[in-house]
Amino acid sequence: MNDKKRLENDLSATSKIPALFLGHGSPMNALEENEFVQGFREVAVSFKAPKAILCISAHWETRGTRVTTMRNPRTIHDFGGFPSELYAIQYPAPGSPELAGEIDELLSSASIRLDEEWGLDHGSWTILRHMYPNADVPVVQLSLDNTKSPLEHYTLAKELRKLRDRGVLVVGSGNLVHNLQHLSWSRLQENFYFDWAEEASSTMKEFILDGNHQDLIHYSRQGKTFQMSIPTPEHFLPLLYILALQSKEDEISLFNDKPVGGSLSMTSVKIG
Ligand code: ZN
Repeated sequence: MNDKKRLENDLSATSKIPALFLGHGSPMNALEENEFVQGFREVAVSFKAPKAILCISAHWETRGTRVTTMRNPRTIHDFGGFPSELYAIQYPAPGSPELAGEIDELLSSASIRLDEEWGLDHGSWTILRHMYPNADVPVVQLSLDNTKSPLEHYTLAKELRKLRDRGVLVVGSGNLVHNLQHLSWSRLQENFYFDWAEEASSTMKEFILDGNHQDLIHYSRQGKTFQMSIPTPEHFLPLLYILALQSKEDEISLFNDKPVGGSLSMTSVKIG
């Protein structure tokens, strides 16, 4: 039996598992012990361990869609100015060329490039090290094609729906409200939002809980509070990948639903 057949057999016997949007916030969450990392741990034990993870991270934007296909993805420290302890962290989860191949087949409408160079960026490993500390679940990343519209991202993500039935945990890693320019560094520990961020955050949550995907896909039509909260699309788009995997019977729940520094939300979403 070849690797691909084995993976198909292996995955076919599994019932559906949730899909997650995770607000990742600061890379320091990799090191800190706080309520957010507790939230990541708790959600991970609320369902059985996945056979593999597909992560769509805000921190991997490319022209055209790519999927990592290496057996041993490196840990990428894609940030600057943090303590040396953070650069010393490795998250040695294996990759899965088999899952990458399957994703390539599922995404029939887009041309996918198999990527041997990327690895796991901090959108993935800073969270996954809390969820699966033994780094024993294979992880594959899918890039955000920065030539696509939000609707095109959502449409592409729909083609990944089968993965949930096959025991693959799809994680979108970003932040719903993400405006670092306005971040209040002196008030990071306080539980507060700027008015515009709070308004956008509560409207986004209402849309998510109502299953109103259209208004989230077309977020640019939502006016000033959304423009301020989503100044660039990359931290918001991973949400659309997760919503696209939602079926009618799925329950939707929120966790880590708190602000940081007024203009960043850690709000995370569990579908199913
Ligand atoms: Zn980020």
